[in-house]
Amino acid sequence: MAGPSPKTHWVARPRLARQSLARQSLALCLLAALLALLASACQPEAPPAAPLSATASPTWTAAPTGTSTPSLTASPTWTAAPSDTPTATATLPPPTATATLPPPTATLPPTPLPAVVASYPIHGDLAVPLTARMALALEREVDPQAVEVEFAFSPALEGQVVWLDAAHPSFEPAALITQTAYAMTATLRAAGGLGPTLTFTATFETGDRGAPIPILMYHRLRDLAADASQGQRDWSVAPASLEQQLDYLAERGYHTISLAQLVDYFEAQEPLPPRPVVISMDDGYRDVVEIAWPLLAKRGFIASLLVLPGYIEYSAYMDWEQMRALREAGYDFGSHSMTHPDLRSIPAAEAEAEVRDSKALLEEHLGMPVVAFCYPMGAYNSATIALLQAQGYRAALTLASGYYQRADDDGLFRLKRTWVYYDMTLEQFADKLPW
Ligand SMILES: [Zn+2]
Repeated sequence: MAGPSPKTHWVARPRLARQSLARQSLALCLLAALLALLASACQPEAPPAAPLSATASPTWTAAPTGTSTPSLTASPTWTAAPSDTPTATATLPPPTATATLPPPTATLPPTPLPAVVASYPIHGDLAVPLTARMALALEREVDPQAVEVEFAFSPALEGQVVWLDAAHPSFEPAALITQTAYAMTATLRAAGGLGPTLTFTATFETGDRGAPIPILMYHRLRDLAADASQGQRDWSVAPASLEQQLDYLAERGYHTISLAQLVDYFEAQEPLPPRPVVISMDDGYRDVVEIAWPLLAKRGFIASLLVLPGYIEYSAYMDWEQMRALREAGYDFGSHSMTHPDLRSIPAAEAEAEVRDSKALLEEHLGMPVVAFCYPMGAYNSATIALLQAQGYRAALTLASGYYQRADDDGLFRLKRTWVYYDMTLEQFADKLPW
């Protein structure tokens, strides 16, 4: 491949410079010590910016305290914040032992309202069950007594606000009407109705058309020669194209989610961030580590990797160590069987072993529950679905095209995907997405 990366040079140069500087200063010091006979002045490792560090560090020595531990009463935070308002002084702790506490929160600007980071349903869900309740996920826990959340619907809905926990206000409607489009507005404000408000809006339907959660499908990530075969062009995406596609997702406000999050949305009505997307990558090629990982990380994205534990001994595929590193970075993993057979055409016992052993190995090596399966070659039938369900899977990915996902009628075992291929233009990519 290419020679040493620029990064290696960039790291190496300052290290060399530092070593020669240290040698230089050592020599200078020895010389100075010999000449001035001041051995005590020789400090080769002394920081060159002594005056800078002196001004930057808090002047602990200036603290007018006789105690052994320096008191924070002498810190600039306190002296620079003389309380102008009587309310602020009233809330100040007494100047005793508690004076070592940080400044009271009353002197700080009012805490902003927590942002809504996820919702159930997501905007655009066209298949909300009649038994659903609406829920918001706040960016942090709040005191439910201190924050009012009001839900309004068009057409109007009777119901009540219930806090599921300190970060999840919800609305339990008395009765949703089938085949109806609703507009929801949730308004947050400080208790008492004063101060700024924060609103969150979403529209949804109680129909059966599914929820818009695209699952992008990638395999190899590499540049191809001009004479590459159609097969190679079908199953590869150029790194530069991937980068463009990720930029598009980031600009449009997409949030990557795991397959477990997708399942929990449908099965437990767990909130999802707006514009959720699953970036699925099949087969577990090393391209994920070498190409995709840095590009996704730059944009705060993760991918869902459908891997083959029976293939990891081959050099083109990731090994356990690489997969564990991705797992620690928040990546999602599902099984793609052990050895990529057509599960419909092998004996039942073999099919069961493919499905069962791959799940067990992934869970053992990655320390996470494996909830999703990806049908090798997209091949499945009702017996395959029954096998997956018996082995504890909760969802499976197909090669069928589309992004409206449904949970009814084994819909989670027929999840649709958006095939991303080598010659796909950004316009074609955008056309395959809901937003
Ligand atoms: Zn595959």
